[in-house]
Parts: sequence; C-alpha cells; structure tokens
Amino acid sequence: MEILAAVLREPNGRLSVEEIQIAAPGRGEVLVRIAASGLCHTDWETMHGQQPVNLPAVIGHEGAGVVEAVGPGVTLVQPGDHVALSWSPNCGHCFYCDRGQPILCEVATAANAKGVLFDGTTRFSSDGQPIHYYSLVSSHAERTIVPEQAAVPLRRDFPLDRAALLGCAVTTGYGGAVHAGRVRPADSVVVIGCGAVGLSAVQGARIAGAFPIVAVDVNPLKLTWAERLGATHTVNATERDPVALVRDLTHGRGADVAIEAAGHNVTIRQALEASRPGGRVVILGKTAFGQEVSFPFTILMGEREIVRTSYGMSRPRQDFPMLADLSMRGELHLDEMITMRLPLADINRGFAELQGGNVARALVVFDG
Ligand SMILES: [Zn+2]
Ligand SMILES: [Zn+2]
Repeated sequence: MEILAAVLREPNGRLSVEEIQIAAPGRGEVLVRIAASGLCHTDWETMHGQQPVNLPAVIGHEGAGVVEAVGPGVTLVQPGDHVALSWSPNCGHCFYCDRGQPILCEVATAANAKGVLFDGTTRFSSDGQPIHYYSLVSSHAERTIVPEQAAVPLRRDFPLDRAALLGCAVTTGYGGAVHAGRVRPADSVVVIGCGAVGLSAVQGARIAGAFPIVAVDVNPLKLTWAERLGATHTVNATERDPVALVRDLTHGRGADVAIEAAGHNVTIRQALEASRPGGRVVILGKTAFGQEVSFPFTILMGEREIVRTSYGMSRPRQDFPMLADLSMRGELHLDEMITMRLPLADINRGFAELQGGNVARALVVFDG
C-alpha cells in the first residue's frame, strides 16, 4: 500500500514528505491508521544528528490512531480499536521483562537500535529499498505497523489528538513526577524545563497534591503555561536564580523532588542543587549523544536519590488508559498543551516552530 510519510534521509534537519510503500502486518503486528502524531524534541535531535539512528527512517514516536488490520496471532487489539502507540513495547520474556523492568526489554532495545521491528525487518520501503523504523513506532506517516504490544487500546470517547500526547511527553512527564519522583501530598517540587514533558510533570505534581510546585524556564510563555497547568511559583532563570528561590520556599533545604526536563548540563546541575538532602532528583531530559555533563561532586553528598528515566518509569499499557481517564475527568489538561496542529506536508515548519521555543506540543493531524 502507498502511504505518505515523513522520511529522514540525511541528518540535515529536514524531513522529506514522500509516498512510500507499507507492507502487510506480520505475525503479532498491527496496522494503524494514524490520526495525530506529536513533534517531540527527540525527533528534532535525531534530525540534527544528535542521536544515532539508521537512515533513511520514518521518524515520529508519539502517535495515536485506529487499528485497521491485524497480523496472524494478534490477540491484544482488533480492527476499529482506538490506540495510542508506545515506543516501549516489551517482549515479555527476556532477562529484563522477567525481572519486572519491561522498559529495558532486550528485544525492543535491539530492534530500536537497528531501526527495525522485533523480527529484524521493516515494513516500509521506497523503490524496493528498505526504510527503517524509529523507536518501533514511526508515527509521522499516514499508517504504520507496530508490534501489538505497542498499540495500547483506549476508550473510544477519548479524542485521538490528545491520545497522541500520551505516547511520549505526557507519560514521561506525569510518570517522572508520580512514578519516578514518587511525589506525595504537600511535597515541594521543582520542575526545570517547561516544554511538553515538564508541563506534564507540573500536572503530575499538581494531581499528586504537591505544594509548592516551582516551574523554571527561560521562556516567559512557557512559564505562563506552567502556571495555568498547576505551578504555584514560576521563575525565569535568565532573571533570577531558581536554586535560590526554591531554597527560599523550602526553609533553605531544597525541594523534596527536583525534576529536570530540559536536557542541558546547566539544568541538570540546577536540579541537583535545588533538591534537598535526602530528596529525589529525576532527570527526564537528555543531552546530545556522547556529550559529557559536569557538576561539583559535593552536589552528590546528602543521600539524594538520583534517577534518570526516559518514560517516567511508566508502564504504557497501564498508564495510557489511566491518563485518558484523568483527562476525561478534567484533571489532566491535554488540549491546553497542543499549541499548533498542522498537516504532514508542513511538518518541517512544525519543527522550526518547536526549535523557536514557543511551542508546547505541535501535532501533525491527518484527515479522518
Ligand atoms: Zn519523545
Ligand atoms: Zn523483553
């Protein structure tokens, strides 16, 4: 079948929107018609050569849509199901899956590293040449084929554009606060970096009952969003030292939970410095592949627990439906995080806007 897809052919910052071929779903795989696909900063890093991947590839890893067909042996979904796509589908029987750490699944990690599905091949091609996968999802396309474990069914009344956000940013940020950060009522929380992941961490902290919730960014617009979504205090780090403010608000101790969601050396250091002795530091951001990060060793003193996680220690198959329920109950605000919607043909403009910084989430939306 011919589909329109955004293909990264060279890591030169631009995607090629072109017609490519998609095969039929194989054993244990499902064909999903994409309804919406979020533009994540990790895509941008990949487009600029900061994260190594096999090219050409259909990128995008934050999508939702409707199951159109299933391959042999599929039992978890059926055609017509509304699904959000998880970039961490796990095999269920490797060393890590057996140890209860499915996010580290060896089968998924190996496939992801090569840009293929679990069987080591891809379903995309162009002129007979294979086109790789990205994060086992490849959602910047009209259709994709994913392992059935990656297609997480959702209630039908939950809008598919909001569902796309569950695929990466919201699950990562909410989980960063609630699962990795273990935020409890009245915990003091600081969130550094207020893109879609940080804003979701602010919401996770709010839903968990934290106070104060200090949001830090260098962009006033993002701080406005953070305030709207639950931050009790905001700091523009170009105007005021966020570490000093957090200490002021916490009897000089630092925050119970410090969450980093910007991916810079300076912000990782701020998160460490803004946490209290005995507190938790959750690092959600990531720097460019191979880049070293530095900070004074003394920051590591004081019994802090430091966690780095990419999916907020979430379990997508449990968390996506739970987050959909929170959204439908009006507790988790997702519409408010969608800054712009655009057609696939304009995806490069969307990434330019993302780079410009005045975007929480830009969504590629597809006609029904
Ligand atoms: Zn992402
Ligand atoms: Zn596994």
